[in-house]
Amino acid sequence: MSKSAALYDRALNLMPGGCSRNTVLRKPHPLYAAKGFGCRVTDVDGISRLDFANNMASLIHGHAHPTITEAVTRQLSLGTAFTLATEAELEYAEHLLGRNPDFEQIRFVNSGTEAVMSCLKAARAYTGRPKIAKVEGAYHGLYDYAEVSQTASPANWGERSRPASVPVASGTPKSALDDVVIIPFNDLPTALEILTEHQDEIACILVDLLPHRVGLMPADDEFIQGLRTWCDQHAALLVFDEVITFRGNIGGAQQNYSAVPDLTAMGKMIGGGFPVGALAGRQEVMQVMNPLSSQMKFPHSGTFSANPVTMIAGKTAMELYDTQAVKRLNAMNASLMEQINQAISQADIPACVSGGGSMFRIHLKPELPSNYRETYSGAEETRIRGLLLDHMFDNGIMMINTCSGTLSTAMDQNELDQFCDVLLQGFIKIKPQLDN
Ligand code: PMP
Repeated sequence: MSKSAALYDRALNLMPGGCSRNTVLRKPHPLYAAKGFGCRVTDVDGISRLDFANNMASLIHGHAHPTITEAVTRQLSLGTAFTLATEAELEYAEHLLGRNPDFEQIRFVNSGTEAVMSCLKAARAYTGRPKIAKVEGAYHGLYDYAEVSQTASPANWGERSRPASVPVASGTPKSALDDVVIIPFNDLPTALEILTEHQDEIACILVDLLPHRVGLMPADDEFIQGLRTWCDQHAALLVFDEVITFRGNIGGAQQNYSAVPDLTAMGKMIGGGFPVGALAGRQEVMQVMNPLSSQMKFPHSGTFSANPVTMIAGKTAMELYDTQAVKRLNAMNASLMEQINQAISQADIPACVSGGGSMFRIHLKPELPSNYRETYSGAEETRIRGLLLDHMFDNGIMMINTCSGTLSTAMDQNELDQFCDVLLQGFIKIKPQLDN
């Protein structure tokens, strides 16, 4: 029995499913990491793999970057969390605000879920309205209102022109579902029609510019601009979830769009490998959290928020992720997507690749999906995708289980070539099954 198999046997009784995060599960058992360095991770059985998952797109420099490790190590011996503020928080706030002129103020939290939740609560507090609007199928973390309408079975989707507010977790109160308005991705006329039906009740529209679960297709500029205009006309706020997409430009993928949001949620890579979240945006809106104001509308706190370890790791990582690094990684991703397309042609299979910034997703479909419904894969496609992912894994490549990958600055062309070689063999292996 492998060491990973033995550890999983032990884990099964300790935690539901034997884990604290479902994303680590694999059949017949998850693998346990021993160590990681750069773009490689070694499991407890001594097998090393090239890491295109990067802890679900959160490690922009791969593992154990020496500069980050050194900065964090220095802080560890000075204490990790205080009931006092630290200068590290200010320094990191200055750094992040300096990356995007539309970020006037910022607050730190501990996860992407918390960042999105804080944005939604701030929007409600600012507007005095109850409802939030979100894109069908988009993942924004675990907050009830942000969570609805994804991973649901097609039978529950509702009309294409009026997508249903479908719960993910059993027991989600109907009142929460009633306060979420679902709009289709990149379909502005339908989205505007739906929004207008709730126009006096909508606090904000929450949108991801490159939503992973919706197919990792970029939002159209006209779609985002149309939502911005609607928000202005109806005194609602526009909130971007840049928990993943912040990597796309120096101050977030939003810098590739003509519309500016009121608030932005961040997370993942801005923690430099440690748990993090942040929300930034217009000062007037952020002021709802100001405890110095006589009428603080949204009291906001968190025990580990802005702890100096995360602040120092995050700042060190983001300083390393400068304009040049962003450009290099985005260019590498564009060329990787081309190479993947070549492998698809060479294997002659019905597949395609979507993506942007430094992230890509492979679909076992002949055409790129344009919304969540088209992204959905039935049992057979899911099974074949599983075969491809297993092939990649068994040949030394870790990916995200939607057949997606993210790059890290620790990679170069050699890793991309290795990825494409293994992928082509995988395509050839699954082709007979796709042809059936
Ligand atoms: N928003 C997006 C776009 C995400 O991808 C995620 C995490 N996958 C979250 C929010 C939630 O972040 P966290 O897991 O840190 O709570």
